[in-house]
Parts: sequence; C-alpha cells; structure tokens
Amino acid sequence: MIAPMVDLHVHTVSSGHAYSTVEECARWAAQKGLQAIAITDHGPAIPGSGNLYHFWNLKVLPRRMHGIWILRSVEANILDGEGGLDLPDKILESLDVVHAGLHPYTGYQGDSVQENTAALIAAIRHPLVDIIVHPDNPAFPVDMEAVVGEAVREGKALEINNSSFVHTRSGSEENCLHMARLLAAKGGLVAVGSDAHVAAFAGEFTHAVEVLQETDITEESVINYSIERLEEFLGSRGKPLRLE
Ligand SMILES: [Zn+2]
Ligand SMILES: [Zn+2]
Repeated sequence: MIAPMVDLHVHTVSSGHAYSTVEECARWAAQKGLQAIAITDHGPAIPGSGNLYHFWNLKVLPRRMHGIWILRSVEANILDGEGGLDLPDKILESLDVVHAGLHPYTGYQGDSVQENTAALIAAIRHPLVDIIVHPDNPAFPVDMEAVVGEAVREGKALEINNSSFVHTRSGSEENCLHMARLLAAKGGLVAVGSDAHVAAFAGEFTHAVEVLQETDITEESVINYSIERLEEFLGSRGKPLRLE
C-alpha cells in the first residue's frame, strides 16, 4: 500500500475559511508520522484569502516544526484560458511548490468543457506550475484524456484530493477514478493531498489511497510518497528544494 509521507495540500487560517494555524497543522501531521506538509493557502482571488504579502513573506516560516519539514506553497487560482494565475511570477518563483486549480467566485468565467479544458491545459503549460489540484471537480467538467495527456507531456502532476471524497466537490469519485486510470495507463504523475481545512485532517489520505490501490498507480508515480521523491520531482523540474 502506498502511504504518502508528505501532505502537499494543507490550508491554514490564512485562507479565510480554514481554521488552524501552521503550528497546529505541523503538530497533527507529525503525530501521524509525516515527513513534511506544504502550506497551500488559497491565492488572493478567493474572497478572504491571503494577499500578496502573505505569499511574499512565507520565507519567514521556520523550515522545521515538530520535527517535520514545512514547505512554502500556494493553491493559486486559474483565472482564464491563457494561463493567468492570481500571483505574479516573482512570488511563484519564491515558493517550493506551486499548485493551481479552478475555483468558484474567483473571476474565472469559463462554463463549458472546452473552456475548462483549455484553462487547465494552459495552467499545465505554465512553467511555474507543478501540480493541478482537483482536476476531477464535477463543477468544472473537462476532457480528461486531453488534460492527462498534456500533464504527461509536460511532466506535471495531477492531484488526487482526499477531501473531494469527504467534504466537498460531491460527485468527484467517478471522475477521479477515470483520471487515475488514465494516469496509470499513461504513466502520469500523481500528487496526493488531504486538502485539510482543519489541522486534524492533515495527512488524511484514506480515500485517495483507495484510488491508488484500485488503479494500480505505482509508488514511483506519486510525487509525494516521500520527501526524497518530492525532491527528485522538483529537481527534475529545475527547482530543487532548498530545505536548510
Ligand atoms: Zn481547491
Ligand atoms: Zn485546497
């Protein structure tokens, strides 16, 4: 069984609709035996989320808390079909890992499969984006074959989001299995995230791991099964993790 040792997708109070601090998330994740968490608060286009200064200032976060690594990240919002995101490149470049995805109430106007697919493909091609979050969200239907194909070509990871099965995005299961089967068949890269909005759910991957098992996705394909694997992935993208 693949049990990822890094949670790549954790929210804190800075998202505006999440309820724990970085320190609390680190403590819960450490108790569960994780090696690292990535702090992925929503980009500024989500109402109530952090502003540019939140992301610019992530450099002050200690690298270690409660014995685990703290990675500096964002869940950026895809704004259009041209690869537009809600953080400037200069800030994205300063982060360890960059997630991007579609969310409601952010100014994104697309409402067709064609537009959503074009938006995800443009984000996959964005040189600073590493991971596309919840591409299986039924609220933004896409041509999954096209999205997976582009991710494989670009060497980017698509997320299996544990929260999609539990708290949000109802109806994701079928889309997720479809995506995961395509990823397994094409040898695509997978990122597993809890998408925890409270500290107690950091490192919670139960449903995502079931999908990995059901679809025979290999350990090597999961970019966060260990901090070493994540370092290898980011290194191959020309953005080596500097954890000192
Ligand atoms: Zn999200
Ligand atoms: Zn999230």
